[in-house]
Amino acid sequence: MAEIPPLEFTNLENIPSIVNGVRQTFLSHKSRPIEYRLQQLRKLYWGLKDNQALILEACKRDLGKSSFETYLTEVGWCMNDIVFMSNNLARFAQDESPPDIAFTNKLFGPRIRKDPLGTALIIGAYNFPIQLSIGPLIGAISAGCTAILKPSESSPAAAAVMQKIIAESLDPSAYTVVQGAVPETTALLEQKWDKIFYTGSATVGTIIAKKAAETLTPVTLELGGKNPAIITKHADARLAARRLLWAKVLNAGQVCVSQNYILVDKEILPVFLKELKVALGEFFPEGAQKSPDYGRIVNARQFQRLKKMLDESSGKILLGGTMDEKDLFLEPTVVQVNSLTDSLVAEESFGPLIPVLPVSDLDEAIRIANEVHDTPLGIYPFGNKQETERVLSQTRSGGASVNDGFFHASIPTMPFGGVGTSGQGAYRGRASFDVFTHRRSITTTPAWIEGMLDIRYPPYTAAKEKK
Ligand code: NAD
Repeated sequence: MAEIPPLEFTNLENIPSIVNGVRQTFLSHKSRPIEYRLQQLRKLYWGLKDNQALILEACKRDLGKSSFETYLTEVGWCMNDIVFMSNNLARFAQDESPPDIAFTNKLFGPRIRKDPLGTALIIGAYNFPIQLSIGPLIGAISAGCTAILKPSESSPAAAAVMQKIIAESLDPSAYTVVQGAVPETTALLEQKWDKIFYTGSATVGTIIAKKAAETLTPVTLELGGKNPAIITKHADARLAARRLLWAKVLNAGQVCVSQNYILVDKEILPVFLKELKVALGEFFPEGAQKSPDYGRIVNARQFQRLKKMLDESSGKILLGGTMDEKDLFLEPTVVQVNSLTDSLVAEESFGPLIPVLPVSDLDEAIRIANEVHDTPLGIYPFGNKQETERVLSQTRSGGASVNDGFFHASIPTMPFGGVGTSGQGAYRGRASFDVFTHRRSITTTPAWIEGMLDIRYPPYTAAKEKK
């Protein structure tokens, strides 16, 4: 098997010329023909497939991910997106007839052309290092854009493998990788872009948006969570426990859409906690640390951040709590908290911490959910139809899964994105094409219509006014 190449940061001095090269390729119109886009998508598909073993190894190294999980959420995920996009690209890229056009205006052949926005910068996050970088890249290629990808430096093995795949598979004049951390990203943001697609924290998202505003560059921001799950007294406690526990053990809870905290009706709390314990035992009979299916925290910095959150919480650990810093292992940990100002509720944990806050009824749960974050990335109500509908109609969020943890995000053809401070813009499925596309309204004025247009030309005589 090939080796994972070492990660080398891009020389800061070279960044302007790298960006300019990719921009010149866009300006040469090379990336626009549908055939070219399909060919690049095909090559990317085979690049991923041929390097599947390396990707599995890289995600194991960076995040301790099991092969099953990496295939499901990274390699297979992206290959599936490429197949969908390739099968539908010609249709997406076709000119559209705009709706609601008056009969007389139809004489001008109104149509909407799908123009590529231009040269895109894609900045990825570490938790799903392949999916969150290659996913947007699929959209950029499909739309006819050229692009530079800046993977997260926190998942270095995956970043290096992506660079290898892109360099070996794609047209290097149109698609390339810049590696680095804050200085390199800052240098990238100094360049001219037609689109910036960023995934990561809201803090950095704000930096990106401010910088982009200086040049009126459009941005898509895929940001963080503080997502609530709400369990009413009518919910199925076993289902809720299994599904929400899974949402926190996948990728060791480093998932932007997983629930940050659970609001549980006091009436169902004892049985829900019992079911969480049962589920944890069923998922990891030998304990999570011994299981090949349970991942690790990405690095010591994030491990320390999670440990501090737990230390600062005034809640009581009910389940888990074992840590092993050398192994970057943090057991799925259920904590009963008493206040919505508790560190585990007020901050995004982005790890396997499962704070449970008892509530008296659904009214209280909805009030707290809206108070902690009025526009989270996801919301997960468990209960009867009437209750879950009430949650949906009295809250806002990027997406929602009823009676599940983030299932909505796993449907590849549904637009995925946040709202308010959890993000702006969406991608996946057709939305990935749209997010890198400008809908250009076009008309053609025929020569023969000149007689009818005569009315618009001065002088505006009394006779014209009468018409
Ligand atoms: P992060 O914001 O620390 O880093 C993301 C990217 O931004 C990296 O490529 C990094 O190099 C770059 N970056 C970091 N600091 C920068 C700065 N000062 N200037 C310019 N660029 C900078 O995010 P992360 O730690 O990789 O991911 C965790 C966060 O991302 C969580 O809040 C999580 O919820 C969110 N997230 C959101 C989604 C989504 O799809 N909405 C997906 C994954 C993660």
